[in-house]
Amino acid sequence: MKFSIISDAFQQMEATTKRLELTDILVKLIQEIPEDVIAKAIYLIQGKLRPNFEGVELGIAEKLVMRAMSKSSGIPLKKIEDDYNKGGDLGQTAENILQQKIQTTFASEVITLEKVYDTLFKISKLEGKGSQEMKMKYVSSMLNDATPQESKFILKILLGTLRLGIAENTVMDALAIAFTGKKENREIIENAYNVSSDLGKVAEVISTRGVEEIEKFQIKLFSPIRPMLADRIKSGEETVEKFQEKFAAEYKLDGERAQIHKQKDKIEIFSRSLEIITSYYPDIVEKISKLIISEDVILEAEVVAMNSNSGDFLPFQELMHRRRKYEIEEAVTKYPITVNFFDVLFSEGKNCMDMRYEERRELLEKIIKQDDFARLIPMSIIESKEQVLEVLENSINSGCEGLMLKHLDSTYRAGIRGSNWLKLKREYQNELGDSLDLVVVGAFFGKGRRTGKYGTLLLSTYNDEEDVFPSICKVGTGFTDESLDQLYQILSPKVTLKKNPRIVSEMEADVWFEPELVIEIVASEITQSPIHKTALDKIKEGTGLALRFPKFTGKIRTEKNSEDASTDEEVIALYKVQKKTENQE
Ligand code: AMP
Repeated sequence: MKFSIISDAFQQMEATTKRLELTDILVKLIQEIPEDVIAKAIYLIQGKLRPNFEGVELGIAEKLVMRAMSKSSGIPLKKIEDDYNKGGDLGQTAENILQQKIQTTFASEVITLEKVYDTLFKISKLEGKGSQEMKMKYVSSMLNDATPQESKFILKILLGTLRLGIAENTVMDALAIAFTGKKENREIIENAYNVSSDLGKVAEVISTRGVEEIEKFQIKLFSPIRPMLADRIKSGEETVEKFQEKFAAEYKLDGERAQIHKQKDKIEIFSRSLEIITSYYPDIVEKISKLIISEDVILEAEVVAMNSNSGDFLPFQELMHRRRKYEIEEAVTKYPITVNFFDVLFSEGKNCMDMRYEERRELLEKIIKQDDFARLIPMSIIESKEQVLEVLENSINSGCEGLMLKHLDSTYRAGIRGSNWLKLKREYQNELGDSLDLVVVGAFFGKGRRTGKYGTLLLSTYNDEEDVFPSICKVGTGFTDESLDQLYQILSPKVTLKKNPRIVSEMEADVWFEPELVIEIVASEITQSPIHKTALDKIKEGTGLALRFPKFTGKIRTEKNSEDASTDEEVIALYKVQKKTENQE
């Protein structure tokens, strides 16, 4: 398949900010892709080469790409650097620069999707001595054959800056429409994705073997399962009302979610966003096999940092010391952890997701040999409001965030946020009574001490009905010099040239980001707002909801996806509770 078919579609996608149009363009594109390359095409559309959990990273330096551009076009490196410094986007620079080249060279080979994909894949595998030179050769050979527009997109994929505003949900919608004619059939696709975490594979199977085949998708060891998520709840009372009968209350620990796959002695650990994190936890790999009595198993646990003297749990941030490539051994001894199991999804060749919570917990208790390192998350069966409050207090006294309340009959619903799991967090010291996890979508440059950094951030909630990120507030307090630096490091590679179509905001930020980073915010109250777009028209026509006196808590929730941020519904619920309390006062 000609790569120009893809790059033409990308060009059209870049030009629109409307989600429906994006989906339309994507549907048409998918319909044109032959079945033998559809998986590759789906990965490329998402700016990757393989599903996240395979950890295939492109990683290439801008400098090297500029040298390759210079080599294939004959244009001096200095000129390319100048153009890049003016525009700030190397893909765009390539299009500009190579337009000049095309006039002077003869027509070259037509570049295909397979060629681009395979070359990018080879680049991703290169490492060690001589690899830089090889990478440059590969890049310049692609640029020799590609048109300026194709070069632009090849380089954007290569540099990880392809930002078309296409979320997984949009890809699933488009696949449903392209292959079944109906968006409503997305559920079948989503189910297959939930257990495989591989949209390329889902697309390939549906395209080569039909929809019936993806209904048969099964769990497989070492392919992560999309995690089940919890709804938020305000009070213990509400829980009892919601569940109406006995339920399980587990401590909610503040750590990193880990999906642990084990087959004999082979261990792989996946994060909540389905990336491989095994290398950060060599201690788990070393110790856990002996503590699990099951040959092949998929377990879920919360990994928590702890104080080795007192045995107390430490906050989530402490785990960030493990996020290094080198000196990991040192981090392992300096920042010890415990692994706290809470679910089992697969054991001894059997899918456990359809088992009831109680049965899964019982199995988990049998499988895990507990010691200081591996434990089961404490759980009690609750029948009354008083009991919830008592367990909540105990959990907080032991350094937890609150409780996870789980329906005893509930099966494990991969990828679903529902009311079978509810989170009851402790009261934070803010009048809202709860913190919110918000997505950083834009920023305003700082002044004074904050010059050259992002002084104020524009934040959004997640509207899961429309799959967009409506703005809810600007935040400029709660930052330390250190957190400002850290945020700048994380956010500057996420800058986009235009506002991502999924961001809904009337405010014009100085810079826009790919909506990816989630941070935690507390605030004094929720107010109606003519400017912000969260819950627009839901409380009053033409009005949204905004946060008053928002403050950053210091928690950067790197383990969360933007779709895990607080939703419009949650903000509306908090707003209603606040109104009720005001009326009582
Ligand atoms: P939240 O991050 O506030 O949406 O809460 C959900 C997260 O809490 C999960 O993704 C887990 O990482 C974490 N968690 C802590 N304790 C538990 C538990 N007992 N059951 C399930 N998840 C838990």
